[in-house]
Amino acid sequence: MEGAKSASDSVDVLLVGGGIVSATLGAMIQRVHPEWSLTVFERLDEVALESSNGWNNAGTGHAALCELNYTPEAADGSVNISKAIAINGQFLTTKTFWGSLVTEGAMREPSTFINNTAHMAFVRGDANQKFLRERFRLMSEHPFFHDMEHSEDYGQIEQWSPLLIEGRPAGEKIAATYAPSGTDVDFGAVTRQLFEDFVARGGALELKHEVTDIERNADGSWNVTVKNLRDGATRVVRTKVLMLGAGGYTLKLLRKAGVPEVKGYGLFPVSGTFLSTENPAVTAKHQTKVYGKAAEGAPPMSMPHLDARIIDGQRTALFGPFAGLVPKFLKEGSVLDLFQSLRTDNVLPIATAGLENLGLTKVLAQDLLANQAKRIEALHDFAPTAVSDDWRLFTAGQRAQIIKPSSGTKGTLQFGTEVITSANGTIAGVLGASPGASTAVPIALDILRSSFKDEWERWENELRSVIPMLGTDVASDPHRALELEAEADTKLGLPKRG
Ligand SMILES: Cc1cc2nc3c(=O)[nH]c(=O)nc-3n(C[C@H](O)[C@H](O)[C@H](O)COP(=O)(O)OP(=O)(O)OC[C@H]3O[C@@H](n4cnc5c(N)ncnc54)[C@H](O)[C@@H]3O)c2cc1C
Repeated sequence: MEGAKSASDSVDVLLVGGGIVSATLGAMIQRVHPEWSLTVFERLDEVALESSNGWNNAGTGHAALCELNYTPEAADGSVNISKAIAINGQFLTTKTFWGSLVTEGAMREPSTFINNTAHMAFVRGDANQKFLRERFRLMSEHPFFHDMEHSEDYGQIEQWSPLLIEGRPAGEKIAATYAPSGTDVDFGAVTRQLFEDFVARGGALELKHEVTDIERNADGSWNVTVKNLRDGATRVVRTKVLMLGAGGYTLKLLRKAGVPEVKGYGLFPVSGTFLSTENPAVTAKHQTKVYGKAAEGAPPMSMPHLDARIIDGQRTALFGPFAGLVPKFLKEGSVLDLFQSLRTDNVLPIATAGLENLGLTKVLAQDLLANQAKRIEALHDFAPTAVSDDWRLFTAGQRAQIIKPSSGTKGTLQFGTEVITSANGTIAGVLGASPGASTAVPIALDILRSSFKDEWERWENELRSVIPMLGTDVASDPHRALELEAEADTKLGLPKRG
């Protein structure tokens, strides 16, 4: 896919990166200012080839239904569900935007990118049974999670997912929750469809073009140097506003632009591999997304899950992730990325964050040493009858976790996403990974809100016609949020919630 129109030397908004974040930003800006000139530069051959690709992420529509890392348990056994409520609201916002775009004809038939796939949490042992019971008690009282079910019974859990029970020794202490309204999302398809519409509306998309330098002009605009990777030619494009959806390379570009807000920031790369099978005998028995509990002290991204997926119309089951240590910030990045990111202002924060996150180091070491037999052993916790021959290992996307400077010279490893905007709002970028693509719409709204402060009131009113959730306070008005969700689900071909 490539834009018919090539970038002019001066544009209103320049977006870097052909992932879901730039695609979402472009879609929103075009609806508020259709007359503005917009250009996207992407260094690879196509859009959605990095983290946003269907095979590079787990395809979870993160509504915090069953991902146990969003409901932490305190030492006294109490469970906090406030983060789950917030994340659920963020995904609702995303769904309402996609629903409007389908109605507009800007996105295609919804099953090409989103499908109803129940989510489950699955745990073993007395202590975990107790945790899941308490989590279910609290969540099922909240309107967002009212249709969640809970069971400790083999027969019931087998009805939800036969693969979890087949071959399991009788009498094991197990428990599960079942959320029928979960989704599986092909974020690559979302990204490609958004970019097709972007180009159709006159946006310029230049593939195989890498942004190599950024300089601020005296009037606050930006001169962006871009290299055509086909012939090596470089040119400079001037832009009033610059938005960086460059995934693991966003921090590098913010530093090139001299944005003081990223002083002390560093990145920690974690690669992810998964086992996958397309054997119909296995995929037929597993049509849910099942989340387990991360090992004690392990980071949230190591939470194991056994996922039913639909990518390019093909049913697949996927298990992982197994973390790896590859010092790149993008899958198609360079092994020198980590080394080249070191600066005098971030060396100590990176070192202290590393020392304080020995749990992550331990998981990385264990996963690096794991062979196929060890990986299948881990899979047996979820699917006792799994056989090695059915499952192949593949490498998913590269995560670049944020290390944020904290007190003094210390640094803290963050597992979320962070939007960085310069004080005058003319440059913004997105750092981090989770909950990622599911929250592309709230992330894009955050960027626009801080970049276009003076115009935001008008923008918000106009955007509300395509993002009905915009402005709804999910914490104080969950029932209104559910009404809007029901409208969006109808547009997205998702079943009505019970
Ligand atoms: C293993 C894994 C599992 C995940 N699972 C989920 C999940 O289940 N659900 C979920 O919601 N999220 C998930 N995520 C997170 C989600 O995939 C990401 O948050 C999201 O895709 C990021 O989108 P993006 O547009 O910011 O970046 P990307 O999709 O990575 O796109 C960035 C683009 O910028 C381009 N680029 C970089 N530098 C330049 C430059 N200088 N010039 C031009 N182009 C440049 C890159 O080539 C790339 O195409 C997962 C991520 C990983 C790695």
